[in-house]
Amino acid sequence: MPIVRIALDVPLPTLFDYEVDEPVSMGQRVLVEFRRRQQIGVVIEGAEKSDVPQDRIKQVIRVLKDCEPLSENLLKLLKFCSDYYHYPIGPTVLSALPTRLRADKPIVVKKRTGLRLVRDPSMLPARKMVARRIIDELAKRPCSPSELRRLAPTAGAQMKWLEKEGWIEPCELKESYSTPSVQLANAHTLTQEQQEAVDQVLQSKGFGCYLLHGITGSGKTEVYVHLMHRILERGGQILLLVPEINLTPQLEGYFQSRFPDVPLVSLHSGLSENARLENWQQAQAGEARIVLGTRLSVFAELPALSLIIVDEEHDGSFKQQDGLRYSARDVAIFRASQGGLPIVLGSATPSLESYHNAQIGRYRLIKLTQRAKAESRLPRMGCINVNQSVMTEGVSERLLGEIGSRISRGEQSLIFINRRGYAPVLMCTECGWMSDCRHCAGKMVLHLKDRKLRCHHCGSQQSIPSSCPGCGHAGLHPVGSGTQRVESLLQAKYPDARILRVDKDSTRNKHAWKQMREQIHANEVDILVGTQMLAKGHDFPALTLVGVLGADNALYSADFRAAERLFAQLMQVAGRAGRADKPGEVQIQTAFPDHPLFRCLKHHDFDSWASQLLSERKMAGFPPFVFQAMLRAEGKIESEVYAYLEKVRALAIALQREVEVFGVVPASLARRANHVRAQLLIQAQSRKVLQQFLRDWRIEEIPHARLHRSLDIDPMEF
Ligand code: ADP
Ligand code: ZN
Ligand code: ZN
Repeated sequence: MPIVRIALDVPLPTLFDYEVDEPVSMGQRVLVEFRRRQQIGVVIEGAEKSDVPQDRIKQVIRVLKDCEPLSENLLKLLKFCSDYYHYPIGPTVLSALPTRLRADKPIVVKKRTGLRLVRDPSMLPARKMVARRIIDELAKRPCSPSELRRLAPTAGAQMKWLEKEGWIEPCELKESYSTPSVQLANAHTLTQEQQEAVDQVLQSKGFGCYLLHGITGSGKTEVYVHLMHRILERGGQILLLVPEINLTPQLEGYFQSRFPDVPLVSLHSGLSENARLENWQQAQAGEARIVLGTRLSVFAELPALSLIIVDEEHDGSFKQQDGLRYSARDVAIFRASQGGLPIVLGSATPSLESYHNAQIGRYRLIKLTQRAKAESRLPRMGCINVNQSVMTEGVSERLLGEIGSRISRGEQSLIFINRRGYAPVLMCTECGWMSDCRHCAGKMVLHLKDRKLRCHHCGSQQSIPSSCPGCGHAGLHPVGSGTQRVESLLQAKYPDARILRVDKDSTRNKHAWKQMREQIHANEVDILVGTQMLAKGHDFPALTLVGVLGADNALYSADFRAAERLFAQLMQVAGRAGRADKPGEVQIQTAFPDHPLFRCLKHHDFDSWASQLLSERKMAGFPPFVFQAMLRAEGKIESEVYAYLEKVRALAIALQREVEVFGVVPASLARRANHVRAQLLIQAQSRKVLQQFLRDWRIEEIPHARLHRSLDIDPMEF
């Protein structure tokens, strides 16, 4: 019987041999028994014979034909990821699939059903506007429900009503009805810079990686949609990757409104399992022409893929932080080169990696230096020196005054502070006791709203002690500020102001954030207090002041990327101010107003900032001038964690390669949820040397039974 090699979701770096007694294709899903459990696997290759003894080799239980096999291209991409990230092939392949395709029961494939018109539409009541649009569409041809749902937010309900009342009925959709037009709605006439950007990418023959570096408001989105339009006209599919936090229904609605007739699906972890499967299959069938998604969508099947766009390419959410620790941006670049197609990385503050690659000519740099709307101006940026200001609970008089003047003018202010809760720590003024977490090396954050101390690392919580657990003294004091404290301070100062706090706590409910955005747009808010959730993507027309608190924390950080991130974040928040006709202003509270970061920021000068950071990185021997891999280990017993890392470190040194092997050090959070955490950094001058070293290191052969360990290639967090 023929032998096939199968990828299974087990943490072993091999494929598994099975016999199969019916024809199978590569990439097909199969049901097999593994360790007395039925599991779904994916056929990766065929084999002449197996090393497994004849009497032990098992048979495939069932070949699943409920779904097209994975394409050769996707399998190649996954193989690359498994090799590059040194992660077992089985879990790599299976983690790329929608959950429903991983479950050990076959999926029920819905026949493509459509809807068609059955009654004379002229009798439809005139007030039924959405129903009318549905009917008009169906008068042209039968359509799928998802096509119709795109017509209006209430289309789903109207379709039900129309069917119930007998205007329309289900029918089979035999051939796929091709998209009637790829009309681009509400297109602006491109500025010269924008047009040149579009032309340059379109002239690309085969693979090309373009870094679109455009200041906020330069109209990068307009460049994307014009590019997409041209690709759609040629019949191609487009993958548009966006940061996690940006993928709201608004964004999906926005792109759909620009291409009203083009099938668009989204792929992200917030979808229900069924919706994700359905969208994935539409992409696989080539029916969805635009796939808009977060990092996981980089593994979508797209048979006619012709363009990839990575928006906000510097964003941290493109990096997966567990399992297969991939960078969706980097995988996307590999995918584009594999497919011989252009990829556009867009950002106002590119990552230093991409910026450097553009400088050395590996990527092509396209700059947008002007705001697209002639009348809009960049916000004025300034610093408030906290050492020379009267401060109230961490907020300067000056900033309070600025907020007051916005309130009286009916304009909005945004106070940005990247810390939720009331105060990051509670402290005893007598003995110095602090609210340490019992399970972690971090502090418990004071949450006054629900009267709790809560650890943001392990989630444990307790009620606030009435007196010091150390000495019994009654004077416990909150130290530092979080969003809640700023909110209550501002409320005390401006009792009539309408204040809205936007952070993970206040937006836990799915609909809360949507409601809040509506409130902001309806100008029902005077002051916004929020974390980075507020920094991205959203357009708040009445906002004219941004105040930044706690920025200096990043300057003290041990992570060499902290300053890079802070700059990007501040540029982004600044971009929220004054986008409409009113000029915006940004005030940053800092003890170091002369720090180069703030000086470059004041002049909106990313290039100077980047070149300064790059020369520092070059001198210090940091990425992008070197390539890194981080081995992390954690476990309950400290000595085991360190012994393991020391052992593999000795192996690394014994290999005598041109790699730098650092010492074993505690992780930045040295203990989390009662687990000791430590790490070992390896660094090399080239990817190739690093990859060869990692292959020869063979750490998977070193037992680590009671430890959790992970290898992180191109790590982003330290
Ligand atoms: P970015 O993403 O680069 O920050 P956006 O794409 O959000 O910028 O564009 C900023 C604003 O400029 C938007 O309101 C957009 O509609 C408008 N815009 C973009 N391109 C043009 C253009 N060519 N002419 C007029 N307005 C434009
Ligand atoms: Zn005390
Ligand atoms: Zn904890």
